Amino acid sequence: LIGLYGNELGINVYVVGGFVRDLLLAIRSKLNGAKKSIPYDIDVVVEGDGLLFGKYVAKQLRAKYVEHPKFHTCSIFYRNGENKIIRIDIATARTEYYEEAGELPKVELSTIKKDLYRRDFSINAMAIKLNSGSFGMLLDFFNCRKDLEEGRIRILYPLSFIEDPTRILRAIRFEQRFGFEIEPNTLSKLEEAVANGYLEKVTGMRIREELEKILEEPEPMKAIKRMGKMKIIFHLFERTYYSPTMEKDLEKLFDVKNYFKNNLSNYLNKVRLFHLVLYVLLQYTPEESLKKITARYGLPKDFIKNLMQVKNVYNEISNELKNKEKISKLSYYYEKTNGFQNEQLIFLAVKLPEELLGKYYEYLRKIEKLKLSITGEDLLKKGYEGVQIKTKLEEIKKKLLNGEIQPGEEKYLI
Ligand code: ATP
Repeated sequence: LIGLYGNELGINVYVVGGFVRDLLLAIRSKLNGAKKSIPYDIDVVVEGDGLLFGKYVAKQLRAKYVEHPKFHTCSIFYRNGENKIIRIDIATARTEYYEEAGELPKVELSTIKKDLYRRDFSINAMAIKLNSGSFGMLLDFFNCRKDLEEGRIRILYPLSFIEDPTRILRAIRFEQRFGFEIEPNTLSKLEEAVANGYLEKVTGMRIREELEKILEEPEPMKAIKRMGKMKIIFHLFERTYYSPTMEKDLEKLFDVKNYFKNNLSNYLNKVRLFHLVLYVLLQYTPEESLKKITARYGLPKDFIKNLMQVKNVYNEISNELKNKEKISKLSYYYEKTNGFQNEQLIFLAVKLPEELLGKYYEYLRKIEKLKLSITGEDLLKKGYEGVQIKTKLEEIKKKLLNGEIQPGEEKYLI
């Protein structure tokens, strides 16, 4: 349909980038007998006025239209037959305006060609024409399909990483997602850009966006390990050294998060994986550097304070490990973590020695459900004042946690 609308407006329309890549991969894996789903986010490039075209398509499809004037692009949100929302992003092939569609084919090809040439990697630089008449024509100017078939990540021009260093992170993401290889020349350009400090030149927000995309991958640890080994982590976070201990903690983080998801899912409320990963990565980074890093990546104001709190509690607990009686009581964990945010509670689970984890989880399960049958007001009536009320309520909570009293028996303690 989109191609048909292109014909109606006399505009050449192409689907480009990830959609084409995944379509070809899906065709390939179908040939190999595997089933792979085709994505629902579609990038479209038109040779002509993208906004005008977008408005027209949205009207015809009765779809939602959103304009991004800053980038001169727009998005259309369309519900398909299977009730899935398809997002179509429409951009204009950046070209001179007089080079409009319907002109000589040579001009037409050179405009989409230029657009594709400016993309990150060859696997993302193919287009399929949608106009009726030539619907389905694959445009592959740079041997992209061969790279896709042979599993290669390749930049299209030598200065690619210098021009946009976020592509360093994108290369690793695609390499690890598809099990591809960054081809030798691309790899040496990538390493050169890292060593020459190009990652440091990008705004924190753009880096953060790419890191968050890595964390959304099915197996983010693969890319994190690769970034650690290639010193990319060090260039992203000053004075932060990726070590085997850190790697173990990161692996544990994903296990712990999985445990929470299956058993303590309420604690995942408001939790950002990006923050959790940074708690682990930055746990040994000196404080002056932490200040710069938190500002650079837009981390919450209390990030450093929260990190330090967990570290302190973890150190205290490590020193008390011999005191078996103390650490076996659930009230112990209450004392240590009362007031912690969910992200802190999860990070502490990563740091705790294996032998305490069972008790800690038991505590989290119990405190979540704990409800006192008396209130501050009951205490007020009994003559308790100010801070005494808080102390008394906490004391009762601890007794309940330890099973020293049963629910409903609170009133006998006041
Ligand atoms: P995913 O499957 O993760 O969504 P994608 O390829 O669709 O992958 P996007 O980040 O949505 O990834 O980018 C869409 C397309 O835009 C890419 O396929 C690529 O052609 C182009 N692109 C995105 N970021 C860059 C960049 N930094 N430099 C050049 N081209 C880019």
